[in-house]
Amino acid sequence: YLQLSGVNKAFGDFVALDDINLDVEKGEFVTFLGPSGSGKTTTLMIIAGFEDATHGAITIEGQSLAGLAPQERNIGIVFQNYALFPHKTAEENVFFPLQMRGVKKAEGLRKAAEMLELVGLEGFAHRYPKELSGGQQQRVALARALVFEPDLLLLDEPLGALDKNLREAMQIEIKRIQKRLGVTTIFVTHDQTEAMSMSDRIVVFSDGTIEQAAPPLDVYHKPTTRFVADFIGESN
Ligand code: ATP
Repeated sequence: YLQLSGVNKAFGDFVALDDINLDVEKGEFVTFLGPSGSGKTTTLMIIAGFEDATHGAITIEGQSLAGLAPQERNIGIVFQNYALFPHKTAEENVFFPLQMRGVKKAEGLRKAAEMLELVGLEGFAHRYPKELSGGQQQRVALARALVFEPDLLLLDEPLGALDKNLREAMQIEIKRIQKRLGVTTIFVTHDQTEAMSMSDRIVVFSDGTIEQAAPPLDVYHKPTTRFVADFIGESN
């Protein structure tokens, strides 16, 4: 469904990604796991269109994403640093991507309300971000990323700023919503437990390359490289 073929990224002389190849199935929940600086976010930024690959191709259902600006890609994103609009209410935040796509206000606000309900925020539509908790803000961000029925959902450490209990609750929520909608998802995390419990497949990155892409139990019990064997299970 989503295919990355021979993706390379250089920043000047520094090679951040070296020959990334990956096929993600429709509806799959794939987690990028790996040490800081291993290339997880860079890969996501290239898929989202915020960075260009130096070489390589990215396709969704065989259609190349080359040359499309981020807003022209039908991709929903929740990044830790990709904040809500502070001067818009929850409902207006969720409506925004529909507005950009020319959806009329009455219909758009109705869809926004439905999506807020799906993420468990009925009753919060008219609050501003500063009147919401961190977890509630992340739910609004998730609703905003999903409201236009994206081909792909990209989540980069979306729970990084939340405390442990809330984080665990949100992991369950994200899985519930992802399954309900069947949206193909790539999730980036440092947290191995999170990766093990949420993913259909874990993609282990090291030093700009993919070490292994396999279901959680295979990564855990059948590591195919020395790096994966050493990295998984170690507390990082
Ligand atoms: P983290 O888990 O810390 O977010 P990551 O695996 O997501 O790390 P990336 O952010 O993809 O890692 O970074 C991969 C490498 O590319 C790092 O060494 C980083 O310093 C480098 N890099 C990323 N963006 C740039 C940039 N704009 N200019 C130069 N180097 C960059």
